[in-house]
Amino acid sequence: MYYVYKNLTSNHLIMKRILFTLIVIAASTFISLSQNFTVEPPNWWVGMNDPNLQLMVHGENIAETSVIIESENIKIKEIHKTDNPNYLFIDLIISSNAKPGNFDILFKKGKKTTVKYNYELFEKSNQKRGFSSEDVIYLIMPDRFANGDPSNDSDKNLLEKADRKNGDGRHGGDIQGVINNLDYIENLGVTGIWLNPVVENNSPDYSYHGYATTNFYKVDARLGTNELYKKLSDECHKNDLKLIIDVIYNHCGINHWWIKDLPAKDWVNHDENYRTTYRGATVADVHASANDKEQFNSGWFVSTMPDLNQKNPFLATYLIQNTIWWVEFANLDGIRIDTYTYPDQEFGSNLVAKVRNEYPDITILGETWLQSIPLVAYFQENCKFSGNYNSHLNSVTDFPLFYATKDAFNEDESWTGGLFKLYYTIAQDFLYSNPNNVVTFLDNHDLDRYFTSVGGDMNKFKMGVAFLLTTRGIPVIYYGTEIAMYGEEHKGHSNIRKDMPGGWEGDDISIFEQKDLIKSQREAYDYVSKILNWRKTNKAVKNGKLMHFLPENNVYVYFKYTETEAVMVMINNHDKDSKIVDCSRFNEILKDYKSGIEITTSIKIENLDKIKIQPKSAMIIELQK
Ligand code: CA
Repeated sequence: MYYVYKNLTSNHLIMKRILFTLIVIAASTFISLSQNFTVEPPNWWVGMNDPNLQLMVHGENIAETSVIIESENIKIKEIHKTDNPNYLFIDLIISSNAKPGNFDILFKKGKKTTVKYNYELFEKSNQKRGFSSEDVIYLIMPDRFANGDPSNDSDKNLLEKADRKNGDGRHGGDIQGVINNLDYIENLGVTGIWLNPVVENNSPDYSYHGYATTNFYKVDARLGTNELYKKLSDECHKNDLKLIIDVIYNHCGINHWWIKDLPAKDWVNHDENYRTTYRGATVADVHASANDKEQFNSGWFVSTMPDLNQKNPFLATYLIQNTIWWVEFANLDGIRIDTYTYPDQEFGSNLVAKVRNEYPDITILGETWLQSIPLVAYFQENCKFSGNYNSHLNSVTDFPLFYATKDAFNEDESWTGGLFKLYYTIAQDFLYSNPNNVVTFLDNHDLDRYFTSVGGDMNKFKMGVAFLLTTRGIPVIYYGTEIAMYGEEHKGHSNIRKDMPGGWEGDDISIFEQKDLIKSQREAYDYVSKILNWRKTNKAVKNGKLMHFLPENNVYVYFKYTETEAVMVMINNHDKDSKIVDCSRFNEILKDYKSGIEITTSIKIENLDKIKIQPKSAMIIELQK
């Protein structure tokens, strides 16, 4: 027989495929000397609400073995085989009496133990989680933010090597770069970080973005290690920053080890010639054909991203457990689910329900890239018009407001244009089960940079920022937007995912050290950080109700208010004319206040009866009694 033992690391958790050192004691068994043997999840926790755990075991002809666990508190409920003999799925029940520690899983052929696998259980933590409209989230593409560790730019085991001259290549940014600049992030005034995916993407090219997973349990070595990701989480929490993970379950990367040895014939849908339509409307469309629904849900995203079949119950469980694993492993505050609308709807709903069963206060954001408000609202939990479907998602991405904000300040007033685009979008908030829990943004890693959307006009840029940070919802700032980065999506993703100046040794400008900024960077940074830092201190803007008034003469006015505080926001969209606004029609709120401070200029406003506002500008006025 073969005698097998695990090559232990400091805490065992960092391995994707757990490599065994195999020592030959006798011949004639099923594991070859260099065979990888994988058990996932690589560990689990005691004290979970759900006592069930399903292990995926991968090893040559492993299905020919019998499995034994000798433990009072860990029981095998059921063992499943698939059409591939190299896989077993083992259902375990972890008793509430189970203590943290190790137990052995014996894989036997006849009376011989061919593999003895040591599995570890840790104690579940009681970390408080979740993010809300009190927060502003900073979105970072880790390869493009800061290179904190030049020694990991390329990795001998990973195909794509660093090449900063290639816009679509890997530039060397990493998790250490984020850790090194947490002071910058905190000083900017945001309260949480969402990193684009950090798990391994071992593709020969265009792998930096992270959306083609080749290992669901391992941080890409060019970004760092699992331990470093956990350290990032700890450092974030020390700095009162939250950490949100980005997960993708619609597809994996074509170089995922599954693809070479599929766990089951139905693990992947169709083939690369059958592409999704990217038309998420088919999900909610009562007239949609079954053909259109199938193609949207089961077509491949691109030729290098096989579409995963979450109708396979083992795959569904694998993905759900993977999410829970990362939350517990890294003490995460929230989850952003990429391409949320694409996978099987029942799976998506179960995924969120099961994660929230384990972590009732966590916030889960689904990417809902859809063009209309009802289509986005359909995917927020407890939607009133989604029939029997309930996504259970606390949060969705407010693309309709993004589109409105992209256009509003570029347009003159008309019946539905200009500021009315903002007004009408917000006016339909009755469609959302919780409009204050939608994620709002001016741009992101897939969209034109906002400064570009407004034609490089700093006044319009500031209006967009002021609106984003004061209207309802949970704002996201994409890295570089705070310095008015420029970039057009149609020129390629490299154009909207440029390196953050100062993140690399020898950069001329350092945003992080606030050194040698050009005028637009300085002006944008000062404006954005001023509002962000003020926002942290103001309960009305973070948690208050919203009351807005019909735009009039190209001026839009709204309030965020609580019982005791109020903020007034006034936006003048006229190109040339300053306006003196008669405020009597805002008396519902203003009657309780005597004066105010405009927070971006610190100018005191003594008289609230009439307020003068410059053309193409926004005023954020903290009202005083
Ligand atoms: Ca690096």
